[in-house]
Parts: sequence; structure tokens; C-alpha cells
Amino acid sequence: MRLLVVEDEARLSDLLKRALEDAGFTVDTVATAADAESALALLPYDAAVLDLGLPDADGLSVLQATRRGGSAVPILVLTARDAVDDRVRGLDSGADDYLVKPFAMTELVARIKALLRRPGGALGLTLEAANLRLDTVGREVQVAGTPLALPRHELAILELMMRRLGRVVPKAVLEEKLYGLDAEPESNTIPVHVQDRCSAA
Ligand code: CA
Repeated sequence: MRLLVVEDEARLSDLLKRALEDAGFTVDTVATAADAESALALLPYDAAVLDLGLPDADGLSVLQATRRGGSAVPILVLTARDAVDDRVRGLDSGADDYLVKPFAMTELVARIKALLRRPGGALGLTLEAANLRLDTVGREVQVAGTPLALPRHELAILELMMRRLGRVVPKAVLEEKLYGLDAEPESNTIPVHVQDRCSAA
């Protein structure tokens, strides 16, 4: 699952990216409202974390532009301003949730997962295919009841394939879901991930 983090403080942006990647997400980061609007218009993100205090515009304008564009992507707003006004404005503008800085990373990850678990959210609960079970919240795979430890990228590939069971999944779709905007995947990366498991099975 792919998330967008919009945060201009580099250190916080890095912390957010790392915490969300550790939780199994693919994460793109941008630092301006302009880049955030482009990214949200361009790519089908599963959710976004949006700081309100951005250098070029108020984060609320990103939120409003995204909703005006017809996107219902879940958005969690971050605000340093501990003011009721901002929270109300954020929720009125189409935010799904908000956190006031400073916050605990564990809290942020839990809130994002809660947004994704909502009806219509990107996190189904458990995916099943033949004797395979994948818990998309706990990030656990079982084969015929036996737990199987998978690296993050392989788990992400498996999840995407299980969500599209019976349909062909183009390599370009896998690459788009798996890699951040700034990562240039080697062209053979995905065949290698898939082949390893096929030959091990
Ligand atoms: Ca900021």
C-alpha cells in the first residue's frame, strides 16, 4: 500500500517515512503544497499524511484542492497549532483525522491503519486464496495454517496479487505500488522477488 507524506521538516519527514515503512507501507515524501497537489493528482495513493504548515501554502489548500478534484483518499492532517479552529477547519475541509504535534509515531501508524480499515478503505482484513491467508493489518502470511515470514517487498507483491486474484497484474502496476517516487527500481527486481518464491515453493 502506498502513502504520501507531506511534511516540510526534513527530520520529521524522515521519521514518518521510516515508521510507516516499518509498518509495511510504501512511502513517498514531498515538502511543498505544490508537490503534494501534483502527487495526489497523479498517483492513486491509499492514504496521505498532510502537515498544515507548509512553506508555499497552507496545507488546508491541498486538502481542498484534492477534494475538489473528486479524490476521497483518506487524509490525516498534522498541525502544530493546538487550536480548535484549525481542527474544525481541517475536518470541514475534508480531513479524515488529525494529530497535533508533537505526537508518538506509534499513534500515527495506528491512526493511519484505522483510516485504511474503514469501509471502502484499502486495508481489507484477511485475504484468502486456496491455502494462503494474508492478514493485511497484522502483516502475517500463513500457508495451510503455518506462518510464513516474508520480506516487506515480497509481502507487498503477494498482497497485490491476492487483491487481484484471477486477473493479470502488469509488472508496471507492481512497480508503481512498490517503489517510492524517488526510487529507481532495477528493471529485473520484481521477477527476482517472484522467482525466488516460485522456486522455493
Ligand atoms: Ca511544517
